[in-house]
Amino acid sequence: MRLLSTTREACRRYTWAMHGCQIGGRFSRCANPAIQACQYCGRHFCLAHAYYVEGHEAVCGRKNCRAKRDDMVVHSAYRRIVETRNRAGLCGIEECGPHPAHECSLCHGHFCPGHISQRGYPFYDGYARVERMVSVCPRCWERRKIWRHVR
Ligand SMILES: [Zn+2]
Ligand SMILES: [Zn+2]
Ligand SMILES: [Zn+2]
Ligand SMILES: [Zn+2]
Repeated sequence: MRLLSTTREACRRYTWAMHGCQIGGRFSRCANPAIQACQYCGRHFCLAHAYYVEGHEAVCGRKNCRAKRDDMVVHSAYRRIVETRNRAGLCGIEECGPHPAHECSLCHGHFCPGHISQRGYPFYDGYARVERMVSVCPRCWERRKIWRHVR
């Protein structure tokens, strides 16, 4: 197992070394060597086109990918707030009251009936878009705009 993953890692490094940066317009393709592959769009990018690289995270500087990374940061802060409020018996939305009787299918926070809605939410299976009815909180509903960009 260990050998296999080491080989796979070596393969990935080899692929990066073979690639130039894939960011930039059609007529202004960046000429720098790639340092990483973006975790959201899969494109190889150079140091100048890096947005966030740390640990196992690698995000390129394209608008959609930056938005996804920013959303993840905001979302984890939101989840912490919701969790704290739920523990106190309150709806996850700040300044709202008690009775968090409904669970958001996406973030699993609890909300009052006024802050949860049944909606057809787009999910992506590869490139196929599938809509499923889910109970969502207002923030999870807004997030679909960012995550609908598959690449
Ligand atoms: Zn990207
Ligand atoms: Zn570049
Ligand atoms: Zn939610
Ligand atoms: Zn509420």
